[in-house]
Amino acid sequence: MSHTSHPNSLVYLIGAGPGAPGLITVRGKECLGLADVVIYDYLANDDLLRFARPDAELIYAGKVGGLHNREQWQINALLVEKALAGNVVARLKGGDSFVFGRGGEECEALVDAGIPFEIVPGVTAGIGATAYAGIPLTHRGVTTSVAFVTGHEGHDKEVSQIDWEGLSLGSGTVVFYMGIKNLPQITKNLMAHGRPAETPVALIRWGTRPEQEVLTGTLADIAEQARRTGFRAPAITVVGEVVRLRDKLRWFDNRPLFGRSILVTRAADQAGEFGAMLGALGARAVECPTIAIVPPESWDDLDSSIARLDRFHWIVFTSVNAVRFFFERLTAAGRDSRALGNCRVCAVGPKTAASLAPFGIRPDLIPDDYKGEGVVEVFRSENITGKRILFPKGDRARDVIPQGLAELGAEVEAPVAYRNVTPDALPPGVIAELEERRIDCATFTSSSTVDNLAAILGENRLLHLLEGVTIAAIGPITARSCRELGLEVHIEPREYTLAAMTGALADHFTRRG
Ligand code: SAH
Repeated sequence: MSHTSHPNSLVYLIGAGPGAPGLITVRGKECLGLADVVIYDYLANDDLLRFARPDAELIYAGKVGGLHNREQWQINALLVEKALAGNVVARLKGGDSFVFGRGGEECEALVDAGIPFEIVPGVTAGIGATAYAGIPLTHRGVTTSVAFVTGHEGHDKEVSQIDWEGLSLGSGTVVFYMGIKNLPQITKNLMAHGRPAETPVALIRWGTRPEQEVLTGTLADIAEQARRTGFRAPAITVVGEVVRLRDKLRWFDNRPLFGRSILVTRAADQAGEFGAMLGALGARAVECPTIAIVPPESWDDLDSSIARLDRFHWIVFTSVNAVRFFFERLTAAGRDSRALGNCRVCAVGPKTAASLAPFGIRPDLIPDDYKGEGVVEVFRSENITGKRILFPKGDRARDVIPQGLAELGAEVEAPVAYRNVTPDALPPGVIAELEERRIDCATFTSSSTVDNLAAILGENRLLHLLEGVTIAAIGPITARSCRELGLEVHIEPREYTLAAMTGALADHFTRRG
């Protein structure tokens, strides 16, 4: 062993799973977050890179300068070089590194260089994609074994290394990786060695992802079907009677919004919840923030209120953002929740209330009605005459609360804690998807989302990019704003909630089939 590795040198060989980001292991995610350098592959979902540290160096192992694929020896050399330089390196590979992933070769290079490593197993495509296609690899009474086989063996091989006879004679499930191009040879070989021509076969492309495509047929006809429909890699080929179970067990690619790409135009920090609701129905949510939450022009007002906190009887929070910025400034002033000791707390809506919990605060008052009017109403039964109330607010907050509370005799101070601004631009990926007509539906959850989108893109470009896109507006005011910009509104839920909006989308797209 000629090298001595740096004391920090360490490589994590991480299986990223088959595509859906949630299918990485807990340990894999943990190790990604520890890495100084992440070297990732084509088949590893890029979404996982957000688990890397923001300052980590990200290296795409697929192409060199966008040109040709790196050779395996070059990847090995890169791993060794980065680790020897004293880095913790995460090598992120699609599926599992040790299943047709050349992980063994990379480990050999690490052993030769004296670099310590840890292997984090992943969900291999043969397991992940079949599960998401509703095909159990084994099934009691149907099949007792399963084989993972490369479908990539060169045609010119005089003597195949694959035991075609063994694979063909039994009733076991056979999963071919990298076999789409060779499908005619594969199916011919299996039939020639004794598998019945009517054996069911499924091709699963981009399994577990929103783009998943499944084609089913038999050994006799699947190659021709694949040719006719232009079915392409990356896909696995599943051969065996278990494929029939898909008819009954299919669960993923028949969800009401499966395969739909839906634009979510909420503020980035609120998009996650709606995205998750859409995702649960099979949609791919494409985040397109049209509202950014930023600090006020100056902290003076809020800081001054915070400095006099013990003089207030009440503090009213109407959003998670208000809570966030208030506590940021409280912390900046060198204080903590105890500064609210004399102050009672009103939180509007369950989410705002929940955002107070990490600060050890349980609200005294949570109005049933989440609007400003509801806050005023609930204070009617508190005696607030002559009481001082602090209301840290967003710059676009209506005057309902300060006015209403003042009418009840309170003295209200309402410093701006954050501003809603329109971002200058959309994420470049979103524009590309709109231009390529890959978005099925755009959702607007407030007038400002559509107005801001128009402001960012310009009205003509908005109309052009949304041509043919289904438009969903959460309520009549938002719908009117859409129409004023010249957009036709196709979906409007009865109730103005995200849940109702999600339901209306599902109905709409199910009806359209
Ligand atoms: N190490 C990977 C396999 C890499 S070989 C794993 O364990 O999954 C590349 C082949 O894997 C592709 O040609 C395809 O056959 C298969 N594959 C990888 N991801 C896939 C996916 N999401 N859906 C279907 N097949 C996939």
